[in-house]
Amino acid sequence: MIRSRTLVLLVSAIFITILIGIPVASMEPAGEVNITASGEGVSQWGPSVAVDGDGNFHMVHYYNDGEDYEARYKKLAPDGMIVTNREGINPAIVGDGTIRWMEIATDQNGDAHIVLSMRLTSNDFYDIYYTKISSAGSVLVQAAPSEHEKCVRCWHHRADVGSHSEHPELCGRCIENVDGSGEQRRYA
Ligand SMILES: [Zn+2]
Repeated sequence: MIRSRTLVLLVSAIFITILIGIPVASMEPAGEVNITASGEGVSQWGPSVAVDGDGNFHMVHYYNDGEDYEARYKKLAPDGMIVTNREGINPAIVGDGTIRWMEIATDQNGDAHIVLSMRLTSNDFYDIYYTKISSAGSVLVQAAPSEHEKCVRCWHHRADVGSHSEHPELCGRCIENVDGSGEQRRYA
């Protein structure tokens, strides 16, 4: 009787050890996984990450090889395979411009939305740039600040702001509305 109880305890202990051991064993590290695999003289850092509804992993990060300084985007399928790898998703940097910060988010379609703060040269101020990359990996939208001056009246960035000496801060349309006979509206 005592021997069989000992046997039951022994078998139970072995069984419990196996049960506890299985999840512990499966949590062993699978080895080092290097997503960017930099070569000599190349630095890649500062990732921002997001995961979409299908379990795909999206990442933007800085890349610098001494000549090119840019933002790169990668998408990994749930099995860890890189399915999209896009270089230079930022507007081209001229000379000594820099990227200071970047963030990524995904939507329900699996598209990636990226914003980054950069200045094109060291003499510029920082601006926010936006890039949208489709779930298939193509760049859908790239938005950048307008090169034109902002009209103080309508807040639109227009090429003709500053071209009128009497109203240097207004666009042509607003000057017409302020000084002229008014904008010709086809529909009241
Ligand atoms: Zn205006």
